[in-house]
Amino acid sequence: MTEPLGRLLTDLGERAVYDAVSQCSRCGYCEQACPTYAATGRESYSPRGRNQLIRLMIEGKLDDPKAVDEALSTCLLCGACRTACYAKVSVPDLVLEARRALRVETHWLVKRVTRMLVESPASLAVLLKIGYLLKRSGLSRLGRPLLRTVGLPALAAMDEGVAEVPSRLLDEELEGLRAEGEGNNWNYFAPCGPRYLFPRVGVATWKALTKLKGLGRHADNSCCGLFSYNYGELADARALAKRNIEKAESAGDEPIIGDCSSCVAFLKSYPQLFLMPSDAEWRPRAERFAARVKDVVEVYGEAVKDLPLGAAEGTVTYHDSCRALHGQGLQDQPRRTAKAVAGQSYREMPDADICCGGAGAFSFVHEGLSDEVLRRKVGNAASVQSSTILTSSTSCLIQLARGLRKYYPDAKVLHLSEFVARSLEERHGP
Ligand code: SF4
Ligand code: SF4
Repeated sequence: MTEPLGRLLTDLGERAVYDAVSQCSRCGYCEQACPTYAATGRESYSPRGRNQLIRLMIEGKLDDPKAVDEALSTCLLCGACRTACYAKVSVPDLVLEARRALRVETHWLVKRVTRMLVESPASLAVLLKIGYLLKRSGLSRLGRPLLRTVGLPALAAMDEGVAEVPSRLLDEELEGLRAEGEGNNWNYFAPCGPRYLFPRVGVATWKALTKLKGLGRHADNSCCGLFSYNYGELADARALAKRNIEKAESAGDEPIIGDCSSCVAFLKSYPQLFLMPSDAEWRPRAERFAARVKDVVEVYGEAVKDLPLGAAEGTVTYHDSCRALHGQGLQDQPRRTAKAVAGQSYREMPDADICCGGAGAFSFVHEGLSDEVLRRKVGNAASVQSSTILTSSTSCLIQLARGLRKYYPDAKVLHLSEFVARSLEERHGP
């Protein structure tokens, strides 16, 4: 755990944390948008309640640290409150900053993973492949009670929640695709989700981008740092950000395109990591980097006229990734794309903009609350009889697949890239 940021880049400019939280007038407009408030009805699980607790914490007036810890740890960081708030109070940033200030010790396993992402991603890939082998053989299932006994219940829940694991990682898949030709029209930023868990998404993105924009290349990137950032390991997040910025600077000026909306939103927020005077050199570099970053759903939205109408089976709907919608303001582009490809088969589901309860490791740590939010989401998808749900974040892919298996097995979830690539392939061939 490193020092808190101290200052935040808000929609109203750079602010000290206390000033940022004091922008909350306690009007309550945000309450109806908050999934954890909707699921529990508890004020301390609402944006307004969380702001109030953070403010009291800074003023030194809190006498129940356990209540604060619970209120902060149950925030999904979805950002729906920020979109709803007329004063643009950035509750997710405030919650993260308060968690850092509370100096909750990071779990040793999380610490180990964040270190490996910085120091030895190749070793992490090897460990994951061993884990996937155990999962496919059914042995990991037998190990779940042991994981719970040794204090790793989230890992057991993760094993239970993730049904599909790949036999080849994305870097192996990309080797073949890169051999077919690389160019400099775009740089593909491979986020950890597609890289380690959903290589099919990265392959689809690469193929779709090649068809729509010509040849591009792999950004040879490191992890974006979001995992480290969310768990208070700011030094690791900064180290990863610097590495990605340096890599991108040596690769021209073309766009840097990623296919996990959570990671892309974080890449766009890199300047927030470099607000200290000691980081003066890095802030403008982070700003230039962020200006080049694009979510792949933006690219599809711009290329709608080149997208062929696909032969969608059954009803198609779209679930907003929180980091696409509230983190980047991407509401129209993905829908335009989904509607262009699905045509008459597209139907909007109710509350498509409400979080699915995934939020990274949240669903494995707060299983009950996450499941309550997920059940509502799946119910909404079922209410329009959808057979395909499209989305754009790794976390949503995991969570929705889990929810569909449990509550609505007739449907499947796909990344928007997979839907677009399949349609392009039907029209133009592989
Ligand atoms: S976060 Fe915004 S909308 Fe919510 S209570 Fe505060 S000022 Fe009102
Ligand atoms: S970020 Fe999401 S879960 Fe957290 S307070 Fe805001 S709306 Fe609620």
